[in-house]
Amino acid sequence: SSKQSVTVIGLGPMGQAMVHALLDQGHEVTVWNRTASRADALVARGAVRAKSAEDALAANELVVLSLTGYDAMYAVLEPAAHALKGRVLVNLSSDTPEKARAAARWVSEHGGVHLTGGVAASPSGIGRPESSTFYSGPREAFEAHRSTLEVLTGTDYRGEDPGLAALMYQIGMVMFWTSMLSYWQAIALAGANGLTAADILPFATETMTGMPDFLSFYAERIDAGEHSGDVDRLAMGMASAEHVLHTNADAGVDTALPAAVAALFRRGMEAGHAADSFSSLVGLLKKAEA
Ligand code: NDP
Repeated sequence: SSKQSVTVIGLGPMGQAMVHALLDQGHEVTVWNRTASRADALVARGAVRAKSAEDALAANELVVLSLTGYDAMYAVLEPAAHALKGRVLVNLSSDTPEKARAAARWVSEHGGVHLTGGVAASPSGIGRPESSTFYSGPREAFEAHRSTLEVLTGTDYRGEDPGLAALMYQIGMVMFWTSMLSYWQAIALAGANGLTAADILPFATETMTGMPDFLSFYAERIDAGEHSGDVDRLAMGMASAEHVLHTNADAGVDTALPAAVAALFRRGMEAGHAADSFSSLVGLLKKAEA
C-alpha cells in the first residue's frame, strides 16, 4: 500500500491502542516491547514483531515511542543508539519539558530527529480525530509525518522548541490529577457518610460543568493583574477551605488534600491578601516557597 509503515516501541495501554489504530487504517506496523507477550494480540492482527529494539528502529524511518517516561526511553534505546541515524522518533511518552529538550539533543547527536508528543487522550480516544496530541520539534519532520500521526489523534503543533509539547501536556496534567483527586476526595467523604459515587455523580458533574465559567472569568482578570475582592475575598475562601478541612476530619477521612488547600489560603492571608480575590494565590504560586 501507499501507507507509511511505522514502528511502535512500548505496548502499554496507549501503545497497544496506537498499533490497533494504525492497523485499522492499513499501515504496516513493526512492534517491540520489553515484555514481549504484550505484542501477542497485535501480532495476531498482523503486526510484525521485532526481535530487538535495534531491529525495531531499523525497520522504519518513523518510530513512535510510548513508554512510561524518558528514563525508559534511554533504557530501551541507549544500547541501540547507533540505529537512530536517519530515524524520526516521535516520542509520545510523557515527561518534563527539560527531559524532552535533552532527549532531542541526544537523538540529534545520534543522527536522528526527535519530535515531542503529549497525548491529551486516554487509550479509548486513540484513533479518533477529535482527540488531540501536542507536538513540538522540527516543523519539517512534523509536517512530513503529520498525516500518519493523524491516524492516532488530531494534532496540535506548538513550535520548534522540543519542550513545548511536554509543557502543554503537563499544564493539562496539573489540572487533571488535582481535579480527579478532588473527585476521589469527594467520593471518600460521601462514602464516609453512606453515599455512593453514583449517588453524588449528578451533583459532581454539575460542579465540574460549572468550571469553564470560572476559568474564563478569572483568566481575563489575572492577565490584567486584577485581583480585587469585589466578587470574592480570600478571607471568605480561607473560612470555606477550613470548613472543607473540618468536614473531612470530622468524617474520619484523609485530610492531606484539603489540608494542603487550606494551607495555601493561609499563606495568602499571611501575605496580606485577605481583602483580595483568591486569584491572588496565583502570585503566591509563581514563587516557590523559600
Ligand atoms: P505504561 O506505563 O502502562 O506502559 C508504557 C510502556 O513502557 C510499557 O510497554 C512498559 O514495558 C514500558 N517501560 C516502562 N519502563 C521501562 C523500562 N525501564 N524499560 C523498557 N520498557 C519500559 O503507559 P501507558 O501505555 O498507559 O502510557 C504510555 C505513555 O502515555 C505514558 O507516558 C503516559 O503518561 C502517557 N499517557 C497515558 C494515558 C493513559 O490513559 N494511559 C493518557 C495520556 C498519556 P513493559 O510492558 O515491559 O512493562
